[in-house]
Amino acid sequence: MINQERLVKTFLQLVQIDSPSGFEDEVRLWIGNKLEKMGLEHEVDQAGNLYCKLKSKGDPVVISGHMDTVEPGRGIEPIIEAGIIKSSSETILGADNKANLAGIIEVIRVLKNNNIKHKPIEIVMSVEEEPGLKGIKRFDFNKLDSNIGICFDKAAPVGTIVNKSPSCLHIDGKVIGKSAHAGGEPTKGINALHAFVHVVSDLKLGRIDPETTANIGTVKAGNCRNSIPETVEFEGEIRSHSEQDLEKIYNTWINTFSSVASSIEASFEHSVKRQYSRYFHDENSTLIKALTSTFSSLNIKTNLVPSGGASDANIFNTHGIQVADLGCGQKHPHRKDESISVENLKKMSEVI
Ligand SMILES: [Zn+2]
Repeated sequence: MINQERLVKTFLQLVQIDSPSGFEDEVRLWIGNKLEKMGLEHEVDQAGNLYCKLKSKGDPVVISGHMDTVEPGRGIEPIIEAGIIKSSSETILGADNKANLAGIIEVIRVLKNNNIKHKPIEIVMSVEEEPGLKGIKRFDFNKLDSNIGICFDKAAPVGTIVNKSPSCLHIDGKVIGKSAHAGGEPTKGINALHAFVHVVSDLKLGRIDPETTANIGTVKAGNCRNSIPETVEFEGEIRSHSEQDLEKIYNTWINTFSSVASSIEASFEHSVKRQYSRYFHDENSTLIKALTSTFSSLNIKTNLVPSGGASDANIFNTHGIQVADLGCGQKHPHRKDESISVENLKKMSEVI
C-alpha cells in the first residue's frame, strides 16, 4: 500500500525545508498545506505545535513526531546512493525526525486515497523537541482523546521499542567564597574553587548504577588570574529510572556541597528543575502487546530496550497517555553522516 516513490519524494522535500529548533514555521506551513489538500483541518497552538485529527469510530491512537532538527541543518542537500539517503554536504540529513513525518503523511494519503477503515488517529507534530522537549511541554493535552500512542524518534532498527526511559533533574549550583588579591593577601580569601574540586572528587559521577547517571557538564570559576576565585557556578544533571534513587543522589549532591562549603566558611546555593519524568511499559501492557503483534504481522522482530535519554514520549506519559518511542531505522542522528535507507523508511511507514 505504501507508495515508496511518493514517500521518498515527501521525505526529500521535507529535509530541504530548513527547520532548526525555533524556526519550524516554514515546514509546519508545508505540512499544513499537504493536510489541507487531503481534506484535513489542523490546529496550531501558541508554542507552534501542530494537531490534526482523522475522525472515525473506535479507540483513538496518537502518532507523534517533531518538526525541528539540530544544527548544522540549513540548506540540506540530500542524495540517494545504493538505497541509502544521506546529506551530500556539510549538514545533518534531518531524518531525525522527518523520516517519521514523511511516514505519517504517506500513511494518511494511503488511508484517504483508498478509503481504508481505520481507528480515529490524532497527529501531534511538535516544535523544539531537541533543546529539551520544549514544544510538547506547552501542548494542551486536554485536546487529546487517545490513551495510547507512538512516536518514532529512536535511532535504532525498526522493531525497537523504548519501553523504559528515565526521569531527569537539572541542577544549577553556585559555591560562594570570598575574593582577595592572589599575591598581596591570599590568606584573606575563601577559595570557592577549592571547595568545588573537593566535592567533585568525592561525588560519584558518570554511570552510578544500571538505573542512574549523573554529570556536571559546565563549570565557570573566578573572574581573573590574580584573584582568589570567589565563585564557582556549574550546570549538572541527574537521570534515573528510579524516583527514589534520583532523590537520593540529588540529596547527596546538595548535602555534600553545603557541608564542604561551610567547612571553609563558603556557602552554597542552587536551583533544581525537573526536565521530564520516567516511563515504563511492561511486556503485558496494552501498548507493548499491540506493538508486538503489529511487528510480528509485518515479520519484524520486536526488541524492548531501555533508554538513558528522553523523547516527546516522556511528556505524553506524564499526561497519562501510554506512548513509547520506537526505532525508525535511521543511523547517526545529529551527525553529518546521518542516514536512513529507503527500505527502513518504507518499513517504518508500514508500521504506522
Ligand atoms: Zn528526534
